[in-house]
Amino acid sequence: MMARVLFINTGSEGHVNPTIGVVQELISRGEEVVYFTIEAFRERIERTGATVRTIDSEQFIKAFISGGRNYVLERINGLLHTADVVIPYVLAQIEGEQFDYIVHDSMFGCGRLLAQLLNLPAINSCTTFAETEASFNRMLERSSNNMPVEIYDEYRSLTARVKEKYGVEIDSPYDVFCNPAPLTIVYTTKMLQPFGEEFDSTYKFVGPSISSRLAQENFNLPALTGKSIIYISLGTVMNQNKEFYKLCMEAFGDSIHTVVMSIGEKVQLSDLGEIPKNFIVKNYVSQTEVLKHAKLFITHGGMNSTNEGLYYGVPLIVIPLSADQPIIAQQVTRMGAGLTLQMHDLTVDQLRLAAEQVLNETSFHHAVVKVRDSYRKSGGSQRAVDEIFEFKSQHNC
Ligand code: UDP
Repeated sequence: MMARVLFINTGSEGHVNPTIGVVQELISRGEEVVYFTIEAFRERIERTGATVRTIDSEQFIKAFISGGRNYVLERINGLLHTADVVIPYVLAQIEGEQFDYIVHDSMFGCGRLLAQLLNLPAINSCTTFAETEASFNRMLERSSNNMPVEIYDEYRSLTARVKEKYGVEIDSPYDVFCNPAPLTIVYTTKMLQPFGEEFDSTYKFVGPSISSRLAQENFNLPALTGKSIIYISLGTVMNQNKEFYKLCMEAFGDSIHTVVMSIGEKVQLSDLGEIPKNFIVKNYVSQTEVLKHAKLFITHGGMNSTNEGLYYGVPLIVIPLSADQPIIAQQVTRMGAGLTLQMHDLTVDQLRLAAEQVLNETSFHHAVVKVRDSYRKSGGSQRAVDEIFEFKSQHNC
């Protein structure tokens, strides 16, 4: 039976991209999708055939950041602050409409609260590693060392206020940060997920969901086939690092490699001085297209970038910056699919040597092929929608 799906995802690019293939697949199987996101992603989501409604990203980010950023509990407070931006707006926008189930991001958009409020069967779309309540609480405890008590007081008053205002339950910080639901789609494999065996069968590890989302976007690169391509990107969030981009130009300028470097929207090309002839530097590239040709990917280890690199069989040098990136770096190194370097003491020689090692030692290539094959078997967005449909039949929706 065709259903109406409410999709809630107000996060950054990395939270949105894996859902594109899922929405495409839902629509091709007859579902109608209404997708709440921020304006920046309207176009790419509309292309799937979904109806897009956007929340004000400035207000949202302001609310999120107002919680503070030093402790995990501060981020949780930030997420609780976003309730007042998201919930009244979504409720007003969908007034009088019926939905059969909700799919929400694991972090951004107050999905769990909305699911309770609307009394809808809920599916959690998890674009990072999944957390069990126990693993999350260990992380929270580590992060709470010497935490000022006011932060906890704020958490208590925020949860009390949200409960009172919207009549919903918040049982724990885990509820707010991970938005647990009866079904969780995780866009990685058990092989990569730390402590993968600790997750029960409500967690479905479907592997990367990589769609041709960008194929129609401006792809302004010269032909890359037949060249030895190194691709460099720090993702879309922590990418304001001129020194790093300059260091890369020093390490690989005038080498036999062609280097494609995405520097993000916050750094200007003119900030980088003279660009070596073998470099193609852009603010944004069609990453999955570039990766099809790359021999090495130097990445911050965002979950999406890592997945995309491995999916196309490209070995990695991971320079983790924040969030789950250090863990991703560890997992990549453990599997032999690449090396990890640290940004704070990175040198030109170190980067050049690591690149030569990853490019020349066949062990990296063999390990990556193994991961690539496991990724291709894991099913991605098609499997995600199979699981969603199975869930629908169990919940009669
Ligand atoms: N991306 C892209 N072109 C760029 C830089 C990034 O298409 O020039 C995409 C990339 O393919 C990935 C996402 O942006 O899907 C970045 O997500 P990730 O989880 O790797 O890192 P984040 O940006 O969240 O730190």
